[in-house]
Amino acid sequence: MAKENKPGGMAAEPATPPDTLPGTLPGTLMVAEIFYSLQGESSHAGYPCIFVRLAGCNLRCVYCDARYTYEEAGTCRTIAEVMAAIAELPPVSRVEITGGEPLLQEEVYSLLNALLADQRQVLLETNGTISLARVPAAVHCIMDVKCPGSGMAEHLDRENFRRLTDRDEIKFVLSDRRDYDWARKIINEYQLADHPHLIFSPVTNRLQPSELAAWLLADALPARLQLQLHTQLWPGCLRGK
Ligand code: SF4
Repeated sequence: MAKENKPGGMAAEPATPPDTLPGTLPGTLMVAEIFYSLQGESSHAGYPCIFVRLAGCNLRCVYCDARYTYEEAGTCRTIAEVMAAIAELPPVSRVEITGGEPLLQEEVYSLLNALLADQRQVLLETNGTISLARVPAAVHCIMDVKCPGSGMAEHLDRENFRRLTDRDEIKFVLSDRRDYDWARKIINEYQLADHPHLIFSPVTNRLQPSELAAWLLADALPARLQLQLHTQLWPGCLRGK
């Protein structure tokens, strides 16, 4: 079952063409890495989790700390090989598919369904530029909304705000006050204030968490302030973390 596409939505902005789509064979995925760590950036933060980081991204955010996902080709793996690699890691239920932008690869849907069939709790972290309509309803989507400070805000598929369910999470990634005001406008425009998982996350070394905290408190926004756990635990190191 696909994500609900609620009626009455505004016209979608065009999503970014996948100009860096990894060249995959049918039944395979280009994989940057598979590893075991702590989930770091959602309401699942702090829980042990297995990560499948897919190669390729259609954005070039100015603060990107995962450039290797699109500057390196990755490794071609079949779905069965990815499932076998996951099975060799510690026996945790939670598995996150991330990137790069994982929805660029057609076979990601096969992987999501294989993980659900394996009774996994499946998280999908996406940059929100590609329609979520084909993502199975049981998957927990974590949609990173790239605000103007990323340089990529115009690529957001805003219709995705109407495709998300209460299971999913909306994470605004903020660089400055302009991003904060932009996020508030989006929340009002798409009536997101009642969404149970609204997250505001400051970009490390660009926006002081205490400054963002003061803005949230002043406006009494129904959003959760969240810091990037990985930058505190493993500063300067994302690969394999
Ligand atoms: S969407 Fe993520 S991986 Fe892609 S450029 Fe932006 S920060 Fe980097």
